[in-house]
Amino acid sequence: EWADLKAYADREAVTKDGFRVELAANIGTVEESMSLLEQGAEAVGLYRTEFLFMGQSQLPDEETQYKAYSAVAEAMRGRPVVIRTLDIGGDKELPYLELPKEMNPFLGYRAIRIGLDRKELLLTQLKAIARAGVHGTVKIMFPMISGLEEWREARAMYEQACEQLRNEGKPFADSVELGIMIEIPSAALMADSFAKEVDFFSIGTNDLVQYTVAVDRMNEKVSHLYDYFHPAVIRLLNNVIDASIRHGKWTGMCGTMAGDPLAAPLLVGLGLHEWSMSASSLSKVKKMIVHLKRSECVALTQRIFELETAAEVRRALEDFHKQIE
Ligand code: PEP
Ligand code: MG
Repeated sequence: EWADLKAYADREAVTKDGFRVELAANIGTVEESMSLLEQGAEAVGLYRTEFLFMGQSQLPDEETQYKAYSAVAEAMRGRPVVIRTLDIGGDKELPYLELPKEMNPFLGYRAIRIGLDRKELLLTQLKAIARAGVHGTVKIMFPMISGLEEWREARAMYEQACEQLRNEGKPFADSVELGIMIEIPSAALMADSFAKEVDFFSIGTNDLVQYTVAVDRMNEKVSHLYDYFHPAVIRLLNNVIDASIRHGKWTGMCGTMAGDPLAAPLLVGLGLHEWSMSASSLSKVKKMIVHLKRSECVALTQRIFELETAAEVRRALEDFHKQIE
């Protein structure tokens, strides 16, 4: 049974003692959504919309975006689709936007910072997403939020988008969950305040690790310092998940860590609700989850909180894995 991954495709992702999680997939294109249900995904936890913008020579208009988002919503047949607003900048370029060259692109003009500056761009996207909500269950996620004001401004822009759609007489979903990515340490530390206002969090470990330990996620010279098992990262994860639970909200994770079976006992122990990963990782993570006991994972996580280096955390997780295999 252990070796047979296919056997897990139709099973629920639930631990031996009944802790149920939602397994979701990350996608970048409409095509990728087509076979997700058969592959065992229960939702799209991250739709990276920037690829829709990168594949052409000008901004996709509202109709073009509406068609793409609707197609994904329909492919998922009512299952949740978390659509992230444009996350351009950093390593992702968009020549027709003529973004300035920067000394530190990852610390500069990117993602929601562009959306709140070039408002017509974000407004058009929000209108297209709200309209696509008629064809399924879409949720909106804002990337690179660093503080409360940015989130509040983004939420206000969503309300403005709905207002415009009402005036134009276009049908749109009447309730759409609004959430933020937690990928900047300042947001992770302020999770308690955010949790009062947002509907959900999704933790982007790829950027969160880079900003926490000050290691460029693309630079191989320093990649030995880049580790999501760093105890500082684990403290941030705990702060975020804990805040969401206290305020009755849910937390997902869409960074690479969610798709690593080695991390699964820790993430179960922390109480992570939604796990979003590349489709190819779904069955090996689900296999791990169904062999875990949440109570043992909580005890392991308590022990991990006492550890002081990433190497120690990794060793503790590897030892734990040997016991269950
Ligand atoms: C992340 O930062 O973890 C994330 C999922 O976003 P991206 O990899 O697209 O920056
Ligand atoms: Mg990111």
